[in-house]
Amino acid sequence: MPNKSTAPKKHLGQNFLKDELLIEKIVEVANITKDDRVIEIGPGKGALTFRLAEKAMKVLALEIDHELYEYLEEKAQSYPNLTVLEEDVLKFRFETIESRFKIVANIPYYISTPIIFKLMESQNKIIDMTIMLQKELANRIVASPNCKDWGILSIAVQYNAIPSIELEIPRDAFFPSPKVDSAVVKIVPRKYPAVRVSNENLFWAIIKSAFSHRRKTLLNSLAMAGFKKESLEEILGNAGIDFSVRPENLSIEDWGKIVDDLTDHLEYQKMRKSQEW
Ligand code: SAM
Repeated sequence: MPNKSTAPKKHLGQNFLKDELLIEKIVEVANITKDDRVIEIGPGKGALTFRLAEKAMKVLALEIDHELYEYLEEKAQSYPNLTVLEEDVLKFRFETIESRFKIVANIPYYISTPIIFKLMESQNKIIDMTIMLQKELANRIVASPNCKDWGILSIAVQYNAIPSIELEIPRDAFFPSPKVDSAVVKIVPRKYPAVRVSNENLFWAIIKSAFSHRRKTLLNSLAMAGFKKESLEEILGNAGIDFSVRPENLSIEDWGKIVDDLTDHLEYQKMRKSQEW
């Protein structure tokens, strides 16, 4: 491989794992067996890829960088169960894969959040995900209510899955060293969402609206979303929720209850209007 192609490309988030012991630990966390199909996002120079290919039934590695793709494609000749695709993960259609699979990835940090959201959309196809992320993002994913990290990302992941931080990785485990520490997160999709809500669109619309005005009280942010204050006071009162709380104080279950009560309220209003007509 010529030197030009080995120079890490900052704009593609290329920080390559160089610590063999850590690579082994990440593969252990992924718990891959000969029954597993694995999709690796951003294989780079194959630090994880070849270890995964030794353990899995099949590995599909998605790499956007043409030079790294060519390098890996050549190396893949020695691993008949390894397929390398030159592919932008954000365009990859995970739903076209027929069998369920595991995800293992040291993902490029410049697109971590869109990758997580994309994977959560395909979560019915995914057995579990072992993902290296910036520590700060990992903390937001596993956060609990009443802490500053609790937000849309925590809710979006925890609504559909159970996340845990499995390893903390210092920045000097990479070449070149990133400016932040990292963590390996395991995300196991739930069979059913954490709460059942009668109107899922309203659930997400309300959560997004509330967290876009984080410093506002629940009452004010719901009022900004178009609900009348008097109705809100009644709904929140009935749900036993203090309306002076802020979005970060509410659990997924609390949001579920609020949205169900708002849905009932909207339905009731519609019914009254049609009766009055
Ligand atoms: N897995 C390797 C390792 O641990 O040493 C490399 C990890 S590096 C943090 C991220 C990798 O993702 C790079 O190889 C980069 O080229 C690749 N990448 C960046 N953007 C991508 C995208 N949109 N789709 C697929 N791969 C991408």
